[in-house]
Amino acid sequence: MSNPVTDHNKPQPLSLDNLPTNEGPYQGQLHDARDEACGFEILPNFERFNKNNDIYNRGRWDERIMSKKVIDWFRGMYRPDIAARDRDGYTARDFAFRLGGWVGTNLLIERNLKNGRVDGYQDDIEIYSEIAKEKVEIESTEKMSEEIKRISRVFGAEITGITSADERWHYSHLYDADHNAEKPVNLPEGLVNTIVIGTSMDHNIIKTYPSATAGTAVGFGYSKDANTMQAIGTFIQAMGYRAVASLNDTAQKVPYAIQAGLGENGRHSMLITPKFGPRTRLGQIFTDMPLAHDGPKRFGIKEFCEICQRCAESCPPRAIPKGPPTDTPLNASNHVGIRKWSIDNEKCFNFWCNQGTDCGICIRDCPYNMDTSTWFKKKYFKFWVWLAGSSLRRLALWLDYKIGDGGRQESNWWWAGGGDRSLVK
Ligand code: SF4
Ligand code: SF4
Repeated sequence: MSNPVTDHNKPQPLSLDNLPTNEGPYQGQLHDARDEACGFEILPNFERFNKNNDIYNRGRWDERIMSKKVIDWFRGMYRPDIAARDRDGYTARDFAFRLGGWVGTNLLIERNLKNGRVDGYQDDIEIYSEIAKEKVEIESTEKMSEEIKRISRVFGAEITGITSADERWHYSHLYDADHNAEKPVNLPEGLVNTIVIGTSMDHNIIKTYPSATAGTAVGFGYSKDANTMQAIGTFIQAMGYRAVASLNDTAQKVPYAIQAGLGENGRHSMLITPKFGPRTRLGQIFTDMPLAHDGPKRFGIKEFCEICQRCAESCPPRAIPKGPPTDTPLNASNHVGIRKWSIDNEKCFNFWCNQGTDCGICIRDCPYNMDTSTWFKKKYFKFWVWLAGSSLRRLALWLDYKIGDGGRQESNWWWAGGGDRSLVK
């Protein structure tokens, strides 16, 4: 059932009396040959996710979520003074740092607000260049994929994978910020390939979660990604091919990243990569540029999460279930028809709003979140990831409890040069 429209043909605002459209069980191809390798268990009642049901958008229309704290949380993305207080990690200095991290993303969002677009969040990122009239001929898709990975690295991506478009992960509808209503996804036909890029978030800053300081790592991750995606998209369009660059808009990033071989879904419902664990920010580009594909890879993360419950134990509002993957939604913000680990986003977001900033304790305490800043630490992490992915995973878990660096560091530790003495005179 589609949204009713007013006499003026304007979309009716979403509310509990006008819920987001449920398009029902997915009518496209339900299963894919790669599903098993990806660890996807798709059920007959699988539905594409309506972006208006994500917890942030529900914070704008769903009375069960909306509150003054939620409004202040959104305002705090642009105003460092709103939640600042005299507490380690939450001072005006910490919030100022966080605002600096988000500035690249905020500029991106502001660029098209007057046109009713929220680039990178509700709408794809407008690409800087026109599509060149003449296509540069591509002789080998394998070679072109290699080149895309090389240029992505120069533009800031630390990991890149390429897969085919898969409409199961495309949102059924997007949020129309102008009317507080829903709107269709306008991804052009024929964008058959998807490039997924990942960048890492700073380990030492993440160690200060919960804090506004740590939110800087997330904000700067988004800002880096936004720039990287625009650069890659510009390259593709200047080569004569179409590119749609996407951050939180258009499609779900984690399943695409899994299909592109970058990692696996963890119990905390985030991607875990063998290179920098859950400290990963993702973006994707849909394109018709002919490219060769990567396949999904298993790193043993699902099996490790089955014996590890660290994130569930660390989460203050107990938003991360301890049991096996399930297809029972915890609330309207969970994906229907797929058996996997999902979190209770309502409890999670409520905790965020009480803090006045985001939380990432589950990232901080995940054993896959390790310091890799020195040669020795990098080697140890590589060894540990191998161990965790082997039948000796219980030993890996024991090692992490014994010598891992879980737990919080004070923000003042970071400000005093924690973990990086070279920055302090
Ligand atoms: S972000 Fe924080 S509140 Fe949310 S699931 Fe992770 S630990 Fe829990
Ligand atoms: S903390 Fe443990 S259970 Fe949670 S995602 Fe990380 S490895 Fe998996």
